[in-house]
Amino acid sequence: MNWLDWIALNEVPVRLSFFFGVFAVIAIWETFSPRRSLTVSKGIRWVNNLGLVFLNSFVLRLLFPTAAVGVAVVVDQRNGGVLNFYEVPFMLSVVFTIIAMDFIIYLQHVTVHAIPALWRLHRVHHADLDYDVTTGARFHPLEIILSMVIKFATIILLGAPVVAVIIFEVILNATAMFNHGNLKIPKKLDRILRWFLVTPDMHRVHHSVEDDEANSNFGFSLPWWDRLLGTYRDQPRGGHVGMVIGIHKYREPKQVNQLPGMLMLPFIGEISDYAINRREWSEKDK
Ligand SMILES: [Zn+2]
Ligand SMILES: [Zn+2]
Repeated sequence: MNWLDWIALNEVPVRLSFFFGVFAVIAIWETFSPRRSLTVSKGIRWVNNLGLVFLNSFVLRLLFPTAAVGVAVVVDQRNGGVLNFYEVPFMLSVVFTIIAMDFIIYLQHVTVHAIPALWRLHRVHHADLDYDVTTGARFHPLEIILSMVIKFATIILLGAPVVAVIIFEVILNATAMFNHGNLKIPKKLDRILRWFLVTPDMHRVHHSVEDDEANSNFGFSLPWWDRLLGTYRDQPRGGHVGMVIGIHKYREPKQVNQLPGMLMLPFIGEISDYAINRREWSEKDK
């Protein structure tokens, strides 16, 4: 049995050990070398952000008991999808699937910022007043369901190998925790890492209250899509310590950092509040 078969057979322990392992490393790292000081107490943030994570895993298991891997197994048995049609060599299809799924996640992320109703869901991720390892996992359950459906469609279309889907999910999980880490990484090292990985300093720009900054750096794992497609921004105007994290209109800790408020966030506010409507206009644009 090769290592790829071993991963496919041990999906749950592989995913759980990576999740807890990476979480522990980042959590300890940000405790000893934080980039910014927190505005809301860590206890309150962690209980509520992780409470949402727990709720989401429960909802997912209930709605989709076999999750993305189950879909990949069925596609595999039926020999469906583009990769099977062209009989792409196995290792190549694994690498291609991982990169393609990352690109789809990038496109999905741009979409949830652009389409008004979807931005309402996604703003739960952005409303966090601070930025740390737990921010990386806080998404509204409806956005989690939407992500899962998009993932299913991608797997069916590609004919993605089961093991590639597992590796992709492990990588996405690990990189999301890393790039949301409240970590102080030396500038020189950050510059090198940025060529192949989204770093905390790169993704933090995306969590700025400023619209132009929040509408940049959409990538989760690979930084290439932002650079290739013109959504890359190097640094925040206010600097990483001075910049304000969150959303301008929603800054009440009870609303944005406590579970009931977070769950209700998509359903409140004026219709005009939509992201795509926030288009600046000035004389020179006439
Ligand atoms: Zn976003
Ligand atoms: Zn984020």
